[in-house]
Amino acid sequence: MTIITTPRDMQALSRKLRSEGARMGFVPTMGFLHDGHLSLVRHARREGGATHVIMSIFVNPTQFGPGEDFEKYPRNFENDRAMAEREGVDVLFYPATHNVYPPGARTFVEVEDFGKVLCGMTRPTHFRGVTTVVSKLFHMVQPHLAVFGQKDAQQYIIIRRMVQDLAMDVEILRAPIVREPDGLAMSSRNVYLGPEERRDAVCLSESLGMARRAIDAGERRADVLRSLMKTHIDQRPSARLDYIGIVDTENLSPRSVLKGETLIAIAAFFGTTRLIDNIIMDIPENA
Ligand code: AMP
Repeated sequence: MTIITTPRDMQALSRKLRSEGARMGFVPTMGFLHDGHLSLVRHARREGGATHVIMSIFVNPTQFGPGEDFEKYPRNFENDRAMAEREGVDVLFYPATHNVYPPGARTFVEVEDFGKVLCGMTRPTHFRGVTTVVSKLFHMVQPHLAVFGQKDAQQYIIIRRMVQDLAMDVEILRAPIVREPDGLAMSSRNVYLGPEERRDAVCLSESLGMARRAIDAGERRADVLRSLMKTHIDQRPSARLDYIGIVDTENLSPRSVLKGETLIAIAAFFGTTRLIDNIIMDIPENA
């Protein structure tokens, strides 16, 4: 596995791989890797047909708001390096902050409106940071395809919009959510949870399961689904609901009656740790 730390070296390697006919799959991460991240590497190969997988590890300061966990975000490069190598990652791109944000940097990329709803309500500058860093990383890595997890469904939808709007020559793939045995979605932030919070956190996936079963049984009213989920979450002592969003996957606009491809997204605090989860349901128009 090659480790690259500067954008220039990354671009040079990318040019070389392209000239040799490689199909390059890119997996951007903030590190502290778990099986969810590694599943994206496999997805790039199996679903995307990547011959080479480039993974980036970069804790992006601009996607953290004031008072959020940028400083204490978990980091363990040595462990990440070993995990990436075991998974067969070909190139690990590990740039320093000043390489991604050169002194004097003034350029941001923003998808209007999409970043204001759902997670954007509590994290108003988050998605501007995400789209900016992903644009920069695409220019540095120049991949044929990039894989994003459904775990961060709003992020995936916003990046897909950005790529269309800016005619970026990168195919965007979505990989399914990888979960712990009890259903909790894997997240680097799960290490923050105390024992009671960890037990309670399973209420997120449970409430989504309840919504799925209600929809399968014919329920289409968003407010009914929302109150079903909220009642379940409110039973857990350490849980404080942030939002339950039921929205169109194309443009993130709210749906009051479910139809077509619909994202049900949820965020809640467990103590001071904010966790997210979601399901995407495809509901036939006439059902
Ligand atoms: P992060 O390091 O949290 O920024 O995540 C990097 C990528 O991994 C994003 O595309 C996430 O959506 C994806 N990811 C994180 N957790 C999971 C998970 N449990 N299952 C699938 N993908 C995930």
